[in-house]
Amino acid sequence: MTADIIDGKAFAAKVREQVAGHVTRLKEDHGITPGLAVVLVGEDPASQVYVRSKGKQTVEVGMNSYEHKLEVDTSEADLLALIDQLNNDPAVHGILVQLPLPGHLNEDLVINSIDPAKDVDGFHISNVGLLGTGQKSMVPCTPLGCLMMLRDHHGSISGMNAVVIGRSNIVGKPMAQLLLNDSASVTIAHSRTKDLPDVVRRADIVVAAVGRPEMVPGDWIKEGATVIDVGINRIDAPEKGEGKTRLVGDVHFESAAKVAGAITPVPGGVGPMTIACLLANTVTACCRANGLAEPE
Ligand code: NDP
Repeated sequence: MTADIIDGKAFAAKVREQVAGHVTRLKEDHGITPGLAVVLVGEDPASQVYVRSKGKQTVEVGMNSYEHKLEVDTSEADLLALIDQLNNDPAVHGILVQLPLPGHLNEDLVINSIDPAKDVDGFHISNVGLLGTGQKSMVPCTPLGCLMMLRDHHGSISGMNAVVIGRSNIVGKPMAQLLLNDSASVTIAHSRTKDLPDVVRRADIVVAAVGRPEMVPGDWIKEGATVIDVGINRIDAPEKGEGKTRLVGDVHFESAAKVAGAITPVPGGVGPMTIACLLANTVTACCRANGLAEPE
């Protein structure tokens, strides 16, 4: 058996097209242009790549992009003052503070200073609480992208056994919550989980969000299961030449694809969906701020 490949790149392109359509209508019918502000503190190379990509895609769908690049030694007071300014700027509908922040800044304090209505990453404690109680919230982009792919593939995931490997606040926990809200039976696994292979073997849906290259081999996967690989790991690729690297997920793709029913590739799976969902969340925030019907 060979798994269906869930093409996150193509799916994300479709989502961006829909977002661009909503943006056009907001402009033409209401004279409103959604705006996304991205704040980057310091010069972490991976964060710089993400921020550039977010800015580019924001502009491509017709929204305004406001990038704030701050020095690595920016004080907490200055960062909080910028967030306050963005909270009060009516042209800004979404605010994203790129994580991780340099060590001297309190991440929880910074994230919780964002107006929850503009918190397009969905990390503010109010949005976490709303999601946890099944109320309307801003939903974290990476788990939202995973859920959209699962819904698209299965129609309904109600009653399915899902295992989420990883319990971080930005991926694992909100992912588990979203699966639960869609009536899956959810197990959350982590570094202390006993008999992880057996836990994973029981799952109809496996979401791997660990950050360990190719940790989940095919013989952990139940035949026909759907595998969503969130991991992004750069490893050496001597076969491509000296000093070369390549990206792999948390799942060993080749062996897992032989048993799974469907699987997301890395790259080209979850990654592209994350930014597409960020753009969709910004449109949602803009509609809510203006009392307009939000996209489905
Ligand atoms: P974290 O490091 O915050 O969390 C990793 C989780 O994996 C922890 O809960 C940890 O458990 C668990 N874990 C670690 N080792 C094991 C193990 N041997 N067995 C079982 N569980 C283990 O990572 P993130 O959630 O931020 O990210 C996870 C991965 O997803 C990374 O590769 C990251 O790059 C990627 N990512 C991809 C995104 C995308 O857009 N595609 C977006 C965000 C992240 P414990 O809590 O016990 O320590």
